[in-house]
Amino acid sequence: MDDKKFALGSSNHDFPLIFERSQAGRRAAQPPKADEVDLGELLGAENLRQTAARLPEVSELDLVRHFTQLAQRQFSIDGNFYPLGSCTMKYNPKVNEEAAKLFSELHPYQDPATAQGALELLYNLQDYLGEITGMDAVSLQPAAGAHGELTGILIIRAFHQANGEGEQRRVVIVPDGAHGTNPATAAMVGYEVVEVASDKNGEVDLSAFKEALGPHVAAVMLTNPNTVGVFETNILEISRLAHEVGAQLYYDGANLNAVMGYARPGDMGFDVVHLNLHKTFTTPHGGGGPGTGPVGVKAHLRDFLPVPLVKKEAEGFSFDYDLPRSIGRMRSFYGNFGNLVRAYTYIRALGKEGLKQVSAMAVLNANYLRIKMKEIGFNIAFDRINMHEFVAQPPAGLKTLDIAKALLDYGAHPMTVYFPLIVKEAMMVEPTETESLETLDQYADILSEILKRAENDPDYLAQAPYHTPVRRLDEVKAARKPVLRYSFSTD
Ligand SMILES: *Cc1c(COP(=O)(O)O)cnc(C)c1O
Repeated sequence: MDDKKFALGSSNHDFPLIFERSQAGRRAAQPPKADEVDLGELLGAENLRQTAARLPEVSELDLVRHFTQLAQRQFSIDGNFYPLGSCTMKYNPKVNEEAAKLFSELHPYQDPATAQGALELLYNLQDYLGEITGMDAVSLQPAAGAHGELTGILIIRAFHQANGEGEQRRVVIVPDGAHGTNPATAAMVGYEVVEVASDKNGEVDLSAFKEALGPHVAAVMLTNPNTVGVFETNILEISRLAHEVGAQLYYDGANLNAVMGYARPGDMGFDVVHLNLHKTFTTPHGGGGPGTGPVGVKAHLRDFLPVPLVKKEAEGFSFDYDLPRSIGRMRSFYGNFGNLVRAYTYIRALGKEGLKQVSAMAVLNANYLRIKMKEIGFNIAFDRINMHEFVAQPPAGLKTLDIAKALLDYGAHPMTVYFPLIVKEAMMVEPTETESLETLDQYADILSEILKRAENDPDYLAQAPYHTPVRRLDEVKAARKPVLRYSFSTD
C-alpha cells in the first residue's frame, strides 16, 4: 500500500529498544569517582542491594537514538494533525516557551517586592481574561478545566449559602450533550444533576429547560457553542429564565476559541466562567498536563473567589488575601505560573484583532472540513453552519472505531470518537485555526482513501491499523493494566 503518499508524520517503528542494544562495558558517560562513603552505615546494610541493577550498557549515541525514536512513536501536535474535537489540540507557539523560561528562576516563596514583573503579568492576565470573557474579576488559580468547574460551582454554592438558600437549591441543570466533567463536578459538590434534552437542531430544548427550572435550581451549566459545535441561539432567553428563578449561569469555556472577540459569555448573561488556557490560549495540553483553568465571575460573586488575587496599588503589585467570603485556596501558590506566562504571551502577541482572527479561522476551517467530509460520504449530525467543531458519522455499515484505527496508519490522529453520546457513532472533528488548507485537504483525501479501500476490501477496516507499533489493543486492559516495564524474555 502507498502510505507514504499520504503520511502526515514519521512512522519509524522498527528500532531496537535500549535493552536490546546493551553491550557489557559500554558507557554513555563517565562521571568522576565519588568519595568513599560507607553506604551501609548511611542507609542500613539491609537496604543495600546484593546484585547490581540490570541497566542497559550503551553508548551516548545509542541512548540519544533510543529516546529520539521512542518520541517518534508518539502522536503529537508538533508531529501530526490532531483534530480532536472538544479537546482543541492546537499549535503551541515556541516563543511562549522562551517567555516562560524568562521566569524560571523565580520561587513562589520569594518576597513579592522582588517579583514585581511576575505579579504585573498575573495582574494584567486577570484583566485581559476578564475583558475577553466580560467578567468583573478573575482567579488564575485552578489547574485545569475540570478544576475550574469545581471552583466555580463551589463559588455558586457559597453564594446561595450566604443568601440563606443553601438548603433549598439542590439541583444543577446540564444539557444531555454536556462534557462529562460538568455533571461530575456538580455531583462532587453535592448537587443533584438534572439533564435537559437537545432539540433537533442540536440546541437546548427550551420547553424541557423551562420544565426543569424552579426555585430548587442552584446553577445551569452550559457551553456555548455547545459540544456539537452549535451556537445556542436562545442563550439570552435561557439566561433570563435561569435568573428569573434565582439560578446562577455557569459557562464552560472550553469552546471559547470559537467566539473570542465576537461574543462574550458575560454579555450572554453568564455569572461564572472557566477557561481552558490549554485549549484557547495555546498552553501545552495532554500527556497529563499541567493544564490551567482560570475562573471569572461577575461582581456579585467576586468576594467568593479563591485567594489570593493580585492587586495593584500606588506602591506596586501585591497578593490580595482580603476576601472574607472566599471559598479558600484551590491550589498551592499561584496556579500553573508557566502556563499563565504562555497564555499572556499569546494574548500580547496576537492583540485584539489577532484573537478575533483566531476564532474566525477556527470556524472557517471547521466548516471547510465539514463540507469536505460530507462530499466524501460522511453524514453530518445537525448539518448547518457550525462553529469551531462539528460532529460527523460514517457511511452506513462502517464503524467509527475502525475508521479511527485506519487513520493511524496514515500518520493522522483520529477525531474524538463516540462523543457526544447523543450522536450514534459520533466523530467529533475540530481542526483548529492553526492548520493550513493543504493539511485539511490531505486529511479529507486520507478519509476518502479509507472509505474507498473499505468498499473494495471489506476486511481491511476490521484489521487496521497495520503499521503502528501495536495494533488493536484491548483498550480496557491497556488503561487498567498498562505494561510500563521492559521485561527480559530470556534468562
Ligand atoms: C476539555 C473540556 C472540559 C474539561 O477540561 P480539562 O481541562 O480537561 O479538565 C470541560 N468541558 C468541555 C466542553 C471540554 O471540552
